[in-house]
Amino acid sequence: MNKFLTAMILAGACTSMQAQEIASPNGKLKVNVGCENGVANYSVVLDNDTVICKSPLGVRTSIGDYTKGLTLSKMSDIKSVSENYSLPQTKKANISYTANEATYSFQAKRGDNSFDAIDVVMHVDDNNVAFKYVVKPLKGRGGDRLACLVEQEATRYTFPEGTTTFICPAMTPQTGFARTAPSYETFYEYDAPMGKNGHGRGFTFPAMFKLTPMSNRMMGTQPNIWVMLSETNVGGNYCGSRIESTSANSYGIAYPEMTEFGGVGSTAPGIMLPGDTPWRTITVGRTLAPLAETTIQWDLVKPQYEAKYDYKYGRSAWSWIIRMDASCNYNEQKEYIDFAANMGWEYLLIDAIWDSNIGYERMEELSKYAQSKGVNLFLWYNSNGYWNDAPQGPRGKMHRQIDRRKEMAWLQKAGIKGLKIDFVGSDKQQTMQMYEDILSDANDFGLMIIFHGCTLQRGWERMYPNFISCEAVRASENLAFGQNDNDIEALAGTIHPVLRNAVGNMDFGGSALNKRYSKGNDRGTTRKTSDVYALATAVLFQTPVQNFAVAPNNLTDAPAWAIDFMKKVPVMWQDVKFIDGYPGKYLIMARQSAGKWYVAAINAADAALTQTITLPTNATEVTAYTDDAKLQGSVNQVKVKKNQFKLNVPKNGAALIICE
Ligand code: CA
Repeated sequence: MNKFLTAMILAGACTSMQAQEIASPNGKLKVNVGCENGVANYSVVLDNDTVICKSPLGVRTSIGDYTKGLTLSKMSDIKSVSENYSLPQTKKANISYTANEATYSFQAKRGDNSFDAIDVVMHVDDNNVAFKYVVKPLKGRGGDRLACLVEQEATRYTFPEGTTTFICPAMTPQTGFARTAPSYETFYEYDAPMGKNGHGRGFTFPAMFKLTPMSNRMMGTQPNIWVMLSETNVGGNYCGSRIESTSANSYGIAYPEMTEFGGVGSTAPGIMLPGDTPWRTITVGRTLAPLAETTIQWDLVKPQYEAKYDYKYGRSAWSWIIRMDASCNYNEQKEYIDFAANMGWEYLLIDAIWDSNIGYERMEELSKYAQSKGVNLFLWYNSNGYWNDAPQGPRGKMHRQIDRRKEMAWLQKAGIKGLKIDFVGSDKQQTMQMYEDILSDANDFGLMIIFHGCTLQRGWERMYPNFISCEAVRASENLAFGQNDNDIEALAGTIHPVLRNAVGNMDFGGSALNKRYSKGNDRGTTRKTSDVYALATAVLFQTPVQNFAVAPNNLTDAPAWAIDFMKKVPVMWQDVKFIDGYPGKYLIMARQSAGKWYVAAINAADAALTQTITLPTNATEVTAYTDDAKLQGSVNQVKVKKNQFKLNVPKNGAALIICE
């Protein structure tokens, strides 16, 4: 042993234990937690490749600064934790979680006395690293400190040089339509270098990184490593966080900005002591499969209440995306109810301004009419409130509990089954508390909830059983608003299922079969993607209540095979399999429903995607929806040998293969 190393170990031994390792059940994914010069740190390795370089840990709180002056006093025994649970409204109905867990205890000093300051609880499974802090009560002569503000979290993620990023810049608070930002609706950057900081305020979760291990760069033999950062278990207990660039190859946790939520509320979260911070999750794979298929966001949370009603999921018609505000009137909604019934869909979402265009009494009539046709209603609400200028009604009904419960009692009496609540736009703890309160009140009245113009859910599918989805994506409304989003629709489509939709149900509102985004299908922005693409994304974009953009005119102006598929498209999936893809270029993924695998491929690259894939079942014949070079779709029964299927997908086109 050389002198330098001996000196380092001796110096370390005086103050702190050496770094301690915890590995995944298969031994491949390893985390080291240590403490150097009073600063807690961790690093992550997959096999022998560095995933996260040694990076600081710690929190600065109102009762003590635990980002420095720490010693690692103890590491618990490593124990195996496992759980089986079902979550049928997500991408995977039955989930089995097995991980190794260890707790690392850090002490701080006051005068000559050391005291227990924080624990870092670490979970490592074969594809995910997750950790949280537990802040300890502070003993004092006049009584213990049992609450604190977490003013700053020191967690950093330092990546090896050459890592590229697939991340969305965080929006500037109080900008955008009627000061409704931030709402997670910016464009992704694809394969962008590290070192940038978005629009000056970092990036939102989930964030994806591509690492090129040294062995790959030298020999070109090893595959890349894909990493997804996110967080989970955030409700009223904490704020939502984002990441900010802290150096050329490092990102740190950042809390909401003071200006969010109209400037009301705090940026730093408050917690009871002992108290937990949210779980920081790091999903790691040699392909995108561990990211697309991860369930870590639900593995680490618990249901916060029981479902009071039997929530029924389904497909929903939605006039607003094609016909906008003007369509939210009695006659057109009646037309859409008939359309939903014709499609065999379970729901209709009636969007903004119904309160003035239809009114409460006639809405009761409309709801009765819908029910007589076997269709149930979701209604739109403005969440606001005092934090932005969004004028659409109904307004002022959701942000305070007394008003909200009065409204929800009426909604239940009128037979309404769910709400889409819009324009929330903040990650502050006070806002998270409001999301949680809306969800728990809605459960008392049998209402399912979709949030729009909102934060990203962080474990909510499992925490709140009547939660359906968040938007938190640059969604279909932008296809109606501007041509550029149409020009890059397929490009964005290749990333959502492996990133945004990987951490939770996504209310995208897509699958338009109109050529143009207008009632007459003759004006407005022009769709560049094929009809098969619309079908493929009905499978790729997952949420248990899908608001589809298919319109009544499509019964006569869209191909009959496309309408027939949309009539029977499932929204409930047992399983998901990533097959191949590269965000920004192409994606091939499969979902399983009622025993059948639906394999969907989309292509955003100039060259056709010609690849032979292995289908996930032993079918000898499959139903294949495919595009020709001019994006003209057709459906055929195709004989299959040895599960091999040859794709030929043109740019902006798709293939959808159903394996019986
Ligand atoms: Ca939106």
